[in-house]
Formats: sequence, C-alpha cells, structure tokens
Amino acid sequence: MIIEKRYCKKCNEPIYGRSDKVFCDDGCRNAYNNIHRKETNDCVVKIYKQLRLNRKILEKIYTGGVGNVRVPRNKMLKLGYNFLYLTNFQVDYKGDQYEYCFDYGYLVLDKDWVLVVKDMFE
Ligand SMILES: [Zn+2]
Repeated sequence: MIIEKRYCKKCNEPIYGRSDKVFCDDGCRNAYNNIHRKETNDCVVKIYKQLRLNRKILEKIYTGGVGNVRVPRNKMLKLGYNFLYLTNFQVDYKGDQYEYCFDYGYLVLDKDWVLVVKDMFE
C-alpha cells in the first residue's frame, strides 16, 4: 500500500489521520475558509460597485442629466462608465444588440456614439 503524504492547505505541515483531511486542524480550516470567503466577498463588492456606477451613469444620461440620450462613448468613459460590466443583453428584431446594466442599457451607434435606453424589452 502506498501512502501519499499530504500537507495542510493552510500551513503546509504534514497531515496525519483520515485520508480525506485537507487541513491539519480546525484552526487552519477556519483561517483558510475565512480568507477565501473574504476574497470572494471583496470581488463581488467590487463588481457590484461598478455595476451600480454604470447604472447611475446610464440613468443620468437617460433622464436628461447630460442633455441628450445620444452621447459619445468617450463621454461615458469620462463619467466612469466601464463597458466590461453589464448584467444582460438583448437583441432586437433588426439584430441590434443592447447591453444592459439592470434596467438601463445602451446601443452602440456609428462612430462610437451610444444611444441610452430604458427597459425596451420588458
Ligand atoms: Zn495547518
């Protein structure tokens, strides 16, 4: 029988006992899980913050805050918009793709202009 030596995922010390053990003790398991949970949470908070900012910018444009629902893409970037973060997208009958941040969205027009919309597909 070959016994493979295993090491604690947290402290790297050798593990003794049951073959399915991943941590040397409860202290290491708790410490490891707490760090992992915090990392996951930080990541979700960061993405959610950007999504909320994106929505806020779309809302501001849509409700007349910048004068027109048709704006240059650059202007949105300057306001802090991040085009990598969206919640969903919809394609209309013409094949145009609208990208949404919750209830507000946009369609990229010619020459990097953007048309901001709300709930078109509800
Ligand atoms: Zn350990």
